[in-house]
Amino acid sequence: MPFRGAANSKLCFLLSLTVCASLLLLMGLQQWGPSDLQLARRPLQPFRQSPKSLGNATHDRSTSRQEKRTGAAGRPSAGRSMADFSSAIERDYSWHQVAKPAKLLRTRAKEKGLQGFAKKPTVRDQAGPGSEDNAATLLWDVPQHSIHTGKHKMQLSDIFIAVKTTRKYHKARLNLLFQTWISLVQEETFIFTDGEDRELREKAGDHMINTNCSAAHTRQALCCKMSVEYDKFIESKKKWFCHVDDDNYVNIRSLLYLLSAYSHTQDVYIGRPSLDHPVEAAERVKSDGSTSVKFWFATGGAGFCISRGLALKMSPWASFGNFISTAEKIRLPDDCTIGYIIEGLLEVKMIHSDLFHSHLENLQQIPPPIIPRQVTLSYGSSEIKRNILRVQGPFSLAEDPSRFKSIHCHLYHDVWCPVKDRH
Ligand code: UDP
Ligand code: MN
Repeated sequence: MPFRGAANSKLCFLLSLTVCASLLLLMGLQQWGPSDLQLARRPLQPFRQSPKSLGNATHDRSTSRQEKRTGAAGRPSAGRSMADFSSAIERDYSWHQVAKPAKLLRTRAKEKGLQGFAKKPTVRDQAGPGSEDNAATLLWDVPQHSIHTGKHKMQLSDIFIAVKTTRKYHKARLNLLFQTWISLVQEETFIFTDGEDRELREKAGDHMINTNCSAAHTRQALCCKMSVEYDKFIESKKKWFCHVDDDNYVNIRSLLYLLSAYSHTQDVYIGRPSLDHPVEAAERVKSDGSTSVKFWFATGGAGFCISRGLALKMSPWASFGNFISTAEKIRLPDDCTIGYIIEGLLEVKMIHSDLFHSHLENLQQIPPPIIPRQVTLSYGSSEIKRNILRVQGPFSLAEDPSRFKSIHCHLYHDVWCPVKDRH
């Protein structure tokens, strides 16, 4: 009898092992999808019309000269208006709100050409607000359904995107953004500059904000712009404030997905730290400067976002020009001052994210398969040592030195992608 009992339990054990193995195999199969590498190499759908828009091959490495030649903004493909396109992005995002089985998510992503978006954020992003986790590793092998993101309803219109620029970069840098990502989110994007420009005004209307700040690259001038950005955001009543520079590419889907992990009523400050340690500054706001304060800040060149809940709490030190005096007191640049107000004064921890990128890091080191998932990207424009993302085609380096046109094409090839004018 004991022998029989043992045989039975062995049998049960073996049976349950088989069941578990089959289940695991099934789940594994469900996780399989086209790799991002395949996505990056996916053949591009030609634009059905023959647009004279972006990408008409100019073999000119200078962005400003290139802009003069190409001019016109990119257009969505035939039969789709910009509004259709924006609502398509919003629709695509609605499915992040509910946790759905991986297979269904993948099928829908495939239908919409959405394979490459940020479905597997960083450990810290997954851990969510308040996470103390400092690990920088990316967890690409985490199954989709185990990620606790997409909890909150997000709409494109919830986001206020502030682009900091200066008059001399309207053509050299902004045109490229209008041709690519801004063309999808013109309603949500506000350009903060320092000089009137009829061409930009025609394009952006009242979304071009002349801050009347100095055009110099000084701490005061940059803080002046950030101060206006802050005030305009508060005035807008939108839920999320995101700041970027005019050499950033914003991946709207990834941004929406990332922010949908949080509530705008929570205290959220998310971005990439520019240093691997906190900054230390003399505390001259709460005390006389005899003590010091340590805080992290998100580098402005990679872009960062702040929830409305937190932005409102910053008001005593940030609104109506107070931002400039706060920055003057601690004698630090605009992005550091944001970090100081949030971490130093409000004692809210910044969420460190690897999904934001500036050209201060080596962009070559971002593995091509994960480029489509990043929230912001950038390019280094120095002729001596170009800091360029590793993005294969469809545009050559000469046609697209920043790689933004190619990235935009890869991300939106089904609805937006220009035909290259091959002479
Ligand atoms: N900028 C500005 N005024 C200036 C020079 C630059 O507002 O006089 C803006 C510029 O448009 C960009 C940001 O500041 O959004 C950073 O400038 P840049 O990329 O030239 O410098 P870096 O990234 O090296 O700090
Ligand atoms: Mn820059």
